[in-house]
Amino acid sequence: MARDRFVYDFDEPSGGKELLGGKGSGLAEMTQLGVPVPAGFTITTDACRAYMAAGHRLPDGLEEEIQERIARLEQKTGKRFGDDADPLLVSVRSGAAVSMPGMMDTILNLGLNDAAVEGLARSTGNERFAFDSYRRLLQMFGEVVDGIDAHRFEQRLADLKQSKGVQNDTDLDADDLRGLTGIFKRIYHEETGNEFPPNAREQLTRAVRAVFDSWDNPRAQVYRHAHAIPDDLGTAVNIVQMVFGNKGDRSGTGVCFTRDPSTGEQGLYGEFLANAQGEDVVAGIRTPEPLENMRERLPEAFDQLVETMATLERHYRDMQDIEFTVEEGELFLLQTRSAKRTAAAALKAAVSMQEEGLITREEAVARIDPGSLDQLLHPMIDPKAKLDVAAKGLNASPGAACGGVVFDADTAAERGADEPVILVRWETTPDDIHGMIAAQGILTVHGGMTSHAAVVARGMGKPCVAGAEGVSIDAAAKTATIGGTTLGEGDTITIDGGSGRVYIGAVELVPPQINEDFETVLGWADDFRRLRVRANADTPEDTAKAREFGAEGIGLCRTEHMFFGEERLPVVQRMIMADDEHGRREALDELLPMQQSDFEGIFEAMTGLPVTIRLLDPPLHEFLPAEEDAEDAKMRRRIRALREANPMLGTRGCRLGLMFPEIYEMQVRAIVRAAIAVSERTGEAPLVEIMHPLVGFAEELRRLRELTVETIEEEGEIEYLCGTMIELPRACIRADEIAEHADFFSFGTNDLTQTALGFSRDDAEGKFLTFYLEHDVLERNPFETLDQSGVGELMRIAVERGRSVKQSLKMGICGEHGGEAKSVGFCHELGLDYVSCSPYRVPLARLAAAQAELAESGAAQYVAAGG
Ligand code: PEP
Ligand code: MG
Repeated sequence: MARDRFVYDFDEPSGGKELLGGKGSGLAEMTQLGVPVPAGFTITTDACRAYMAAGHRLPDGLEEEIQERIARLEQKTGKRFGDDADPLLVSVRSGAAVSMPGMMDTILNLGLNDAAVEGLARSTGNERFAFDSYRRLLQMFGEVVDGIDAHRFEQRLADLKQSKGVQNDTDLDADDLRGLTGIFKRIYHEETGNEFPPNAREQLTRAVRAVFDSWDNPRAQVYRHAHAIPDDLGTAVNIVQMVFGNKGDRSGTGVCFTRDPSTGEQGLYGEFLANAQGEDVVAGIRTPEPLENMRERLPEAFDQLVETMATLERHYRDMQDIEFTVEEGELFLLQTRSAKRTAAAALKAAVSMQEEGLITREEAVARIDPGSLDQLLHPMIDPKAKLDVAAKGLNASPGAACGGVVFDADTAAERGADEPVILVRWETTPDDIHGMIAAQGILTVHGGMTSHAAVVARGMGKPCVAGAEGVSIDAAAKTATIGGTTLGEGDTITIDGGSGRVYIGAVELVPPQINEDFETVLGWADDFRRLRVRANADTPEDTAKAREFGAEGIGLCRTEHMFFGEERLPVVQRMIMADDEHGRREALDELLPMQQSDFEGIFEAMTGLPVTIRLLDPPLHEFLPAEEDAEDAKMRRRIRALREANPMLGTRGCRLGLMFPEIYEMQVRAIVRAAIAVSERTGEAPLVEIMHPLVGFAEELRRLRELTVETIEEEGEIEYLCGTMIELPRACIRADEIAEHADFFSFGTNDLTQTALGFSRDDAEGKFLTFYLEHDVLERNPFETLDQSGVGELMRIAVERGRSVKQSLKMGICGEHGGEAKSVGFCHELGLDYVSCSPYRVPLARLAAAQAELAESGAAQYVAAGG
């Protein structure tokens, strides 16, 4: 809401980050803590919003308020703004509530002109410094306020250094810089048709407007989009008395961290550049020295800096990233903010700050970005590497992998036994599973976040970039064209499933980094959370992995994946090809012992914890080859007969179970026999949950439950639950009727998103959804982050109606959203009992569930910036 004023001095009580931006509130807080900060004031984000709302017009009264504050600044500093003899100079710095490093603009040295620069030279006795400051103003003002291409200025600076035969800016003398200001003024005139404005107040007003405008520059928009920062926050503007790091050898500028931002270790981390202004460090024009070197050069300022770092960390109770300047031996802090850090550093810092008594366990848990944990579970691309991206797709399954490209699953399986390979496909099908297992990573041209490739890769913890539409494959020639380069079988690429990037050639990787800090923080998270966390796993190996990561059961075992093994597929195909029930049963009898042994393995790996087994779900044609590869005319006919225009809406899920009850019957028998065998072997009865997919009508579940119960009774006695997936809108709406026949519900939000939104989960992301996201029709990919107001509302209805008839109905989620932090928070709020996600996301879900509980119980204020 608009307040009655737009400007606050650093030394007066005001608002927090939202009003003053991160930089402004930091400067005010530091001033009030007694940390040395130059004098100044902040124009609020309210003013920016008012400016934008009025069509880029400064709100009434703002200019007067700025003039008043300048007058106070003049009093404090004893200098006058616009004075020719000993001018007050200021910087104008952007600063939004959410940190957007380097995205918006800053202008330094405002207040100089042809006369004032001479005055500055005289009053400081340093002509070189005065002209160095002036040429910087001309360039920054030209670039930021008038949009002149930076290159025009930089080229002339480079030319000058070349003609003088020197390397560094600092090697230029006062005359050189004086000459350069003349050249820069001419560039300004050529580009704008006007003289550079000599009036300090005009400079200031135009600079403030330019910083407001920079909120909407394209790079800031892209950054906001990438980081889901709302577009209407606006930026504050800080007007700060200039302090000068470019006054000679006893001056300088630098940045430092209170702990190592890549490891979290305590120590001195930072860089320092003598005789320079801040932008020299940022622009990388000169190579800074390690901060340690400052100790000898400027011992007093150094000691004060070290002390201030500790003060700030104690005050903010978080690791800080600090910018400072030393002017002739005197230290000034220009900025402090919570430091960006790697996941490993975030964990180490959280654990050590808790040990140091700086923060509580709750805060430590609340500080870690759950999404960042992925970084630690997989090999990663060295974050310091500078690389050319050849293509980009969806970040479908995190981690990086490199290997030779192969174009089909058989070759992947063959070559993958001896060397690392990346399976590159238009898209994958369950048929490719052996190739996916053998490959180091998977790259697909089509498909989204819930495509086969993405789901399976996440389950295996294998890197996957999906839907890289810029890649094209010539399967016959066995080549792929990636970013203009054509590669043949065996040529090396690297994929980064965490960012969706693809690189040509091999890129250096760093290994996974699970360590004690990780275990400590997750252990604390487990103490706080209410939601249980299970995993989606289909094999004993994945089950064991899931358990290692802390899973408290299996929430979804997809049985179809078990039908694709080399010895099984022909039997499955025989079952599908059979002319009658008798023929089908014969094939199913052969499959039964195989299924049984799968279940035994999984039950044993999850002893003491529940295992939800879902009966067959996909359309049968997925088990048959493409028509052209069919063995004979009979198979071709069968393939044609099974073909459906929309197989995802076709003969699949419980519809199969009703039409071919012998299939589900076989699966249930296998489950019961496995449970009994494991009980006998281990003395512990598995906690069996049998789940029916794609139920939309209570009658479907009623019949299937009957079939399930009868089959179980025929086989023997086991404890079990029988429940259903809730993955169709109708099932949500009629959840009360369905609940009559269910012991539990498990939300299949992949299909529920597909059917509620009418977005194909196979195609949408490669097609219109990309456009929707790029053009802000949608803020997030609904297959990745649950669409809370649509799909979430359906879930809410289902929870209420389901529990209205059965208070004890157990509820969980097993769609991909069960492993996404925001969606986990939503599931907590809905009151689900558990979330289930791929094994590698279990740690993330444990942490997100704890954060949801902490937020609800009032520890919310601790959910801090951090990583
Ligand atoms: C779902 O639809 O959310 C689900 C978990 O099942 P699947 O992805 O196997 O269709
Ligand atoms: Mg489903």
